[in-house]
Amino acid sequence: MNARADVGTSALEAVSRSLPDSTLTVEQARSSILSQVRPLAGFERVSLRHALGRVLAEDVVASIDVPAYQNAAVDGFALSSETLPECGGNRLRIVGTSLAGHRWESVVSRGECARVMTGAALPGGCDTVVPHEACRLDGEHVLIDPGRVKPGDNVRQRGEDLQAGRPALRAGAVLRPAHLGLMGSLGRCDVTVHPRLRAAFLSTGDELRSIGEPLDEGCVFDSNRHSLWGMLDRLGCEAVDLGMVRDDPLALEAALISACECADVVITTGGVGGGAADHLRDVLTRLGEVSFWRIAMRPGRPLAFGRILLKPSHSTLVFGLPGNPVATMVAFYMIVRDALLRIMGANPKPVPLMRVRAMEPLSKLPGRVEYQRGVLDMLQGGEWGVRTTGPQGSGVLRSMSEADGLIVLEAARGRIEAGEFVGFLSFDGLA
Ligand code: AMP
Ligand code: MG
Repeated sequence: MNARADVGTSALEAVSRSLPDSTLTVEQARSSILSQVRPLAGFERVSLRHALGRVLAEDVVASIDVPAYQNAAVDGFALSSETLPECGGNRLRIVGTSLAGHRWESVVSRGECARVMTGAALPGGCDTVVPHEACRLDGEHVLIDPGRVKPGDNVRQRGEDLQAGRPALRAGAVLRPAHLGLMGSLGRCDVTVHPRLRAAFLSTGDELRSIGEPLDEGCVFDSNRHSLWGMLDRLGCEAVDLGMVRDDPLALEAALISACECADVVITTGGVGGGAADHLRDVLTRLGEVSFWRIAMRPGRPLAFGRILLKPSHSTLVFGLPGNPVATMVAFYMIVRDALLRIMGANPKPVPLMRVRAMEPLSKLPGRVEYQRGVLDMLQGGEWGVRTTGPQGSGVLRSMSEADGLIVLEAARGRIEAGEFVGFLSFDGLA
């Protein structure tokens, strides 16, 4: 078994035995895969500036209270609530100024107040801050507008953000800018994260050409390696580009073997159907334990998942995605993405599904979920509507590049009329 990746053998065998070539729903495929993957072993310690997008491998416990002292939430005048106009006082003597970052030694007494700046420690004897706009200056005194402030207003209590000894962040979080800021607020300079997932990818097809090569008759430039690189990189993986492989079983076998030597996960595109030039099935069946599924989805129907077993002690996960460029991306987002996040140590939450109104009829057959490519528009009244990008062929990559996200049409639905509600997954959430 590979030291980093680990797939449960028995679960995989059970799935492949019970579902040879069967059609699965997207949910069945996703949950079957999720149940068979585990986080990579090992940890890394990285500085905050290198932690963005990494997956937290420890609970970060607050070492201090944040804020560490009671302070003013606004610029104004600090006083004891007993001196508020409602409590008898409305003309108070200003005894000094408390600035952020400077100590204030004396105590403010009844009938007095101190000028305070936002973030300044609350002077002793004070529990309330009256903002400037509720005050009028009168020489050395300040007149307070009655009714504008209640006792305790505009004061940040010690520890109201984070309390010393309590968890501030939980393991499994994919670190976003706010997480870095929060650890910064605790004075943390480094953090323990899961290792980066090394995901190798390759394209298969005799018709594929790379950028820089002449585009021979009947050939297409390989786009999948570029969209895959982008999706893997944004997910936080170390994306290893293994290039293009001809429709030749020996070449495919050699490429897969070398992929296993450098990666935790291998993703292939193309050749996963049952066509004359589709060798993936034979080669993967020889190299390991792989299930070939038909998924009740469009685009992205054929999919292979399993592991390559080169030696009893070494296994590598493999995802075989369909070659059509839209199908590759949709299958990655809907099926592969969460599995990779789990292997990266994250606890993936479902991406929020918006409910939006179809702005035009959408043709669809019942029996499979469809992911049409949609552009959002704000309708009159502030509601969101969605229209398709036009032709929805699984080779029309422009439909992905022009879309804001995927219109999700559940399996049971048939044609959708304009005005009906549909689901929508934003690419921003999927990134
Ligand atoms: P396949 O899944 O191999 O049957 O390929 C299905 C369709 O996708 C064919 O039209 C291929 O030319 C196209 N295709 C496969 N791989 C790629 C790729 N890497 N880049 C662009 N198109 C591809
Ligand atoms: Mg092919």
